[in-house]
Amino acid sequence: MKVSGVEIQVVQGDITRQEDMAVIVNAANSSLRGGGGVDGAIHRAAGPELKKESSALAPIGPGQAVITGAYRLPNRYVIHCVGPVYGVHKPEDELLASCYRNALRLAEKQQLDSIAFPAISTGVYGYPMREAAQVMFKTIIEVIPELKHIKKIRIVLFDHPAYELHRQALEACHTE
Ligand code: ADP
Repeated sequence: MKVSGVEIQVVQGDITRQEDMAVIVNAANSSLRGGGGVDGAIHRAAGPELKKESSALAPIGPGQAVITGAYRLPNRYVIHCVGPVYGVHKPEDELLASCYRNALRLAEKQQLDSIAFPAISTGVYGYPMREAAQVMFKTIIEVIPELKHIKKIRIVLFDHPAYELHRQALEACHTE
């Protein structure tokens, strides 16, 4: 789907294998030292240098984002976002929206042309996926008019049900 010249893609895959994306986004925790899920996969693929750089920028709170190098990953940068823990950090929709907004603005500031996101907060942090997908697409579509450099935004879902749910959520935004 294209919004004001920016392509939004929904794909099933692994966030650490997005070779054609300038930056990938990590669903991190506030210590920025790595963890489970996406965070663990990104740190394993990037190598130990990533933790050295990211942990020096910690702590960051829910909704915030920082940028580091990507080391052994095939991308130029990693943006680390801390999503809200559902039911704990409130208002969770605004904090989740901040993640997407701040990540897009950081990538734009670096003049990058492409960015890949996982579904932040929908794993261990417990955000219901359908609600999270609505916040994600609404925020991305709101921020797009600010963007000059970013031409491609890719949402990478790990499994097929998550992919289907996001594909339908994006279609629903389009027909609204
Ligand atoms: P959070 O702590 O923000 O909830 P998680 O890493 O636990 O983050 O999960 C976020 C989402 O990413 C989940 O939907 C999970 O299925 C998915 N996921 C896990 N590993 C990967 C991966 N390698 N690539 C893309 N998505 C992934």
